[in-house]
Amino acid sequence: MDLMGVFSDKLQNSLDDLTRKKNITEDDVKQTVKEIRLILLEADVNYSVAKNFCNVIREKALNEDVLKGLDPQEQIIKIVRDEMINLLEGDNELTFEENNIMMMVGLQGSGKTTTTGKLANFLRKKKRFKKPLLVACDIYRPAAIDQLVTLGKQLAVDVYLERDNTDVVEIASNARKFASENGHDLIIIDTAGRMHVDTELMDELKRLEEAFNPSETLLVLDGTVGQMAIEVADNFSQYVNITGLVFTKMDGDTRGGGVLSVKQTTGKDIKFLGVSEKLDGLEEFNPERVVSRILGMGDVLGLIEKAEELDTEENMKMAERMMEGNFDLNDFLKQINMLNKLGGLKGIMKMIPGMNKIDISGLDEKEIDKVKAIILSMTPEEREKPSILNAKRRIRIAKGSGTEVSDINRMIKGYDQMKKMMKSMGNMDMSNMDLNKMKNSNGFNNFLR
Ligand code: GDP
Repeated sequence: MDLMGVFSDKLQNSLDDLTRKKNITEDDVKQTVKEIRLILLEADVNYSVAKNFCNVIREKALNEDVLKGLDPQEQIIKIVRDEMINLLEGDNELTFEENNIMMMVGLQGSGKTTTTGKLANFLRKKKRFKKPLLVACDIYRPAAIDQLVTLGKQLAVDVYLERDNTDVVEIASNARKFASENGHDLIIIDTAGRMHVDTELMDELKRLEEAFNPSETLLVLDGTVGQMAIEVADNFSQYVNITGLVFTKMDGDTRGGGVLSVKQTTGKDIKFLGVSEKLDGLEEFNPERVVSRILGMGDVLGLIEKAEELDTEENMKMAERMMEGNFDLNDFLKQINMLNKLGGLKGIMKMIPGMNKIDISGLDEKEIDKVKAIILSMTPEEREKPSILNAKRRIRIAKGSGTEVSDINRMIKGYDQMKKMMKSMGNMDMSNMDLNKMKNSNGFNNFLR
């Protein structure tokens, strides 16, 4: 997700200007704040939200301490950061006090159905619920029901539907019965979407709400529409009790102004961000993390969270083998796949402070694919014992993988170095070893260079 990345670069530039100066004047502060406002407006933040935000920043920044401060850039960043966190902060947790029923609402195309699937997946992964049930109440478009069925299959989550029934309240009632008979511990109702807010749809949502009193009613908003989301959120809020927001499609080059604006104007808390089309592309909303991204400080938290999801048992087994010097190319392939799961090299670099400014266009994911292709072109024996890779075999592998022999030589050299390093590490006390650090070590990078 490059949330508001657009304005992080610009903000950096204007702050860099500020740092170059020795003495900061009131005018400098005013100028910087003016630029911050332009950046916000460019990011499609609502005008009055941007104005209020900047008024606060200016007031705080004009404080004498900043002007006399040793590092005005750091101080202004802190003010902007604290204020943005303040603006975005809220209750980001889902609560199920009334019952275990959730209702998903939103306009057509906002990503409502996809998010319904993502949420079931997320809550099950987090072990909050064991057996969610998705209920297809978007009955006007048969394609929407099919989509939910497909999602359910992909996730191995049950979907309740009644194709010939047009009474959504009845469908949901039947679904509730079905859920209690079949041991489902969470019901997520995917409601109908429309192109625009209309009273018919709102009445339907209201009836569903009255009949089920869901613990959570999440409004799904397309993160790419900017401040237009304010009106949508306002309209929905008038009819149903929205308990939280989900912004989708935050992975593109969306400027994300909607997130700030809707939170500020509706006062509704943001619960999740959709960050890919895939079913694991849902992130718990974390204001600090979002603000850090805005200000270009990286997203270490996001990286740690993803790393934690990986199968640690398998990692430990692999680590043991590595320490014993038994690290073969099969293990290496696993490491590469793990890297992919973490969002690829580029994904990782983006999340590390400072790294997001480095030009990584040369460090292409293609390199990883190349290494993968090479290993996959090897026989199982060659993967286990790379020492048997003579010239003839290397030529064969190069042909098979569409690479050059020099690529293979380079990779093997890196592998040998890494193996040596692993072995020497194995002789140390590794009780506190951090696998992820190891993965980023030089030996590993040599594979890719
Ligand atoms: P609905 O009409 O509101 O149910 O919307 P859908 O769930 O069908 O989503 C509309 C389109 O947006 C689909 O092509 C989804 O794959 C896509 N989509 C949904 N969420 C995300 C997201 O977080 N990131 C990206 N890139 N695409 C998304």
